[in-house]
Amino acid sequence: MDNPDITITENVPLAPLTAWRIGGPARYLASVRSPRGVQAALEFADSRHLPVWVLGGGSNMLISDAGLAGVVIRMRDMRVDVTAQADYALVAIGAGAPMAGTVRQLVNAGWAGLAWAEGLPGTVGGAVYGNAGCYGGDMAQSVTQVDIWQAGAMVAYTAAQLGFGYRTSALKQQNAAKMTQGMMVADMGPIVVGATVTLQRGDVVQLMADMATTAALRRSKTPPGSSCGSVFKNPAGDSAGRLIDAAGLRGFASGGAVIADKHANYIVNRDHATSADVLRIIAHVRNVVARQFGIQLEPEVQFLGAMI
Ligand SMILES: Cc1cc2nc3c(=O)[nH]c(=O)nc-3n(C[C@H](O)[C@H](O)[C@H](O)COP(=O)(O)OP(=O)(O)OC[C@H]3O[C@@H](n4cnc5c(N)ncnc54)[C@H](O)[C@@H]3O)c2cc1C
Repeated sequence: MDNPDITITENVPLAPLTAWRIGGPARYLASVRSPRGVQAALEFADSRHLPVWVLGGGSNMLISDAGLAGVVIRMRDMRVDVTAQADYALVAIGAGAPMAGTVRQLVNAGWAGLAWAEGLPGTVGGAVYGNAGCYGGDMAQSVTQVDIWQAGAMVAYTAAQLGFGYRTSALKQQNAAKMTQGMMVADMGPIVVGATVTLQRGDVVQLMADMATTAALRRSKTPPGSSCGSVFKNPAGDSAGRLIDAAGLRGFASGGAVIADKHANYIVNRDHATSADVLRIIAHVRNVVARQFGIQLEPEVQFLGAMI
């Protein structure tokens, strides 16, 4: 009988599970649908002495062409539990819930606070991890608690403990380096299992109109093709896209990857790009922008696996 908490499959191509459509296979892919599934995946990895990586919607990561020789835990817990009070609601959401779809569902039910995330790719867990944000909002504004799997147990982090900053959190700071190599279970960083957001009652018609405006803005700025969104964080007081453009790098290509014409902070996979193609562009951009403007661009995208 199928296990409702977890499904484990072997030698699974990861490129189709990422927005960039780049990356080799996972030795094992563990699709987990509950906190118990996370525990089962970690026990599976530990018993085989294999490293672990965590995959949400794959919309902010570059996976190595060599693949990931361990267990990739794909978060698929999509529960959305609304506890309504008179004028606000506490909403407990599974880490694998798709951000944009969940926001639409909540707006349709009259809950305001996350409408800025209309069209935001990825999962709720990934959005918490990186404090995703756009169009005047970010996760830090709504998240009140995050359920974390850490050191063999579930713990609840308050918003204050999450250390949210611009496209970062205390979780990302703890995990970013480890996530490249993969994490051994004994040395595991935190895994987001679920998050609770506090939302206010709102006017559905107005919220839908706000979301239509956001969707139109997003469409007007997003280049066609497979990408991971913005590759670099904006440096304080400036925009990475403006700097890359001013450095004359729009259209710069390596192999099948190219800096988008429409938005210079996007690298598009236009023809079977590899992680090596993308890495060459990232390195070139950082060198040129540092030389021309004395600014070190920091990648927003996360790197998983051996980067050569
Ligand atoms: C076209 C496009 C537009 C975008 N626009 C925006 C934008 O406007 N604003 C913005 O902020 N971002 C944007 N992004 C980037 C991306 O949507 C966000 O960063 C998103 O929140 C990533 O979520 P994810 O589930 O896809 O994470 P993934 O890409 O799967 O993972 C990203 C990192 O988080 C870790 N991670 C994921 N889930 C968990 C978890 N449950 N526990 C622990 N670690 C975890 C992964 O290991 C990885 O290191 C865009 C991306 C695309 C493709």
